[in-house]
Amino acid sequence: MKLAKYSMGIGDRFGRQGPAQLRAVMKAAAEGLPIDPVWNKSHREHTIIGTVPADVQREAQQAVAACRWEGAFYVDADHIGLANVDLFIESSNFFTLDVAEVIGQEPDEGDLRAFVHKHADLAGARPLPGVDQPMDITADQVGTAARKYLRAVQEAGRIYRHIEAAKGTGTFVVEVSMDECQDPQTPSELLVILAAISDEGIPAQTIAPKFTGRFNKGVDYVGQVCQFARQFEQDLAVIAFATERFPLPGELKLSVHSGSDKFSLYGPIREALGRFDAGLHLKTAGTTWLEELIGLATAGGEALDLAKDIYGQALQRFDELAEPYASVIDIDPSALPSPQAVGQWDSQTFADTLRHDPSCPQYNAHFRQLLHIAYKIAAEIGSRYLAALAAHEQIIARNVSENLYARHIRPLFMAGPALG
Ligand SMILES: [Zn+2]
Repeated sequence: MKLAKYSMGIGDRFGRQGPAQLRAVMKAAAEGLPIDPVWNKSHREHTIIGTVPADVQREAQQAVAACRWEGAFYVDADHIGLANVDLFIESSNFFTLDVAEVIGQEPDEGDLRAFVHKHADLAGARPLPGVDQPMDITADQVGTAARKYLRAVQEAGRIYRHIEAAKGTGTFVVEVSMDECQDPQTPSELLVILAAISDEGIPAQTIAPKFTGRFNKGVDYVGQVCQFARQFEQDLAVIAFATERFPLPGELKLSVHSGSDKFSLYGPIREALGRFDAGLHLKTAGTTWLEELIGLATAGGEALDLAKDIYGQALQRFDELAEPYASVIDIDPSALPSPQAVGQWDSQTFADTLRHDPSCPQYNAHFRQLLHIAYKIAAEIGSRYLAALAAHEQIIARNVSENLYARHIRPLFMAGPALG
């Protein structure tokens, strides 16, 4: 089971926008850009919203049937570990093995010595095709990186073999993720990690490192774009080198998490992918629900009131909602409008404040991030929220498709932005 060169993590909180998202992928395919759709939902998200992995599989299957999609599609057990992987075995064919928590745990001294001995030749300076500066690692740095990451990769091996025993070899896609941790991984650390992944026999097709800068949920990248671009292309060069050097899947590619709305990075990413002839996996699912809110606001009347009500409740429960997302949001409470002010807004004002159009003076990234993490409130509202989605299906579906195609797929993989 091989993932296409380009793939995107899609999916949504309430499982209603599968066809609308798939239509964006189909539009790209019709224009000659094949992308594999991957429905992803993390254990955290399932827990907050009260869904189970089989719901995601059902949504994907229904969307594929409704749209008569004949290409491949995947269901991603996103950010799983040994503690919860069993819940996902049956309904997933893509597994994101999250071992960030194990980073920094001391490996067995014998394992560490064996690794360093086996990979002693990683030390030294070597030019990497496509990057200006040679990669220069000392033997000490190989040892330090192995001490930091070897245990984590061994844990990924354990999770992988657990899934393999249950599902069978070659029947699922494997991603190794290390993005939800403290420090970004340097390209030389990535090389050591890939050597360890190969030693563990994990057929990883995607790897999600933590990149430099902040990847906040649903808003643009915060950091130095040129620094990110340099790291990103060095990572691509390391992957090209590692897949030649070690028995790793030749299609191994980078996976970018919290990838939605990183508009300032899409140009540099697209350019680097072209130069290295490299593939990419980009996870975006979380912002689909914001397009639902924009659609409801635009519909006006009771639907607009519902969107305002969700915001009012989110503001009251700020701390509770922010807690599980603390490392991936930056919300300045003083920049949030009062519920009284929002109560006066018309459809256009609500939609313009929420929609991520950086050129629109009304756009408010703080308002957007708060609503991004407020889906729990819509889940509690339950049937009234779902009924509103059904009543305004067309306007919402248009937003969802347009957002994915024009703001994400096009600038990332095809050409300049096609906003409008
Ligand atoms: Zn992630």
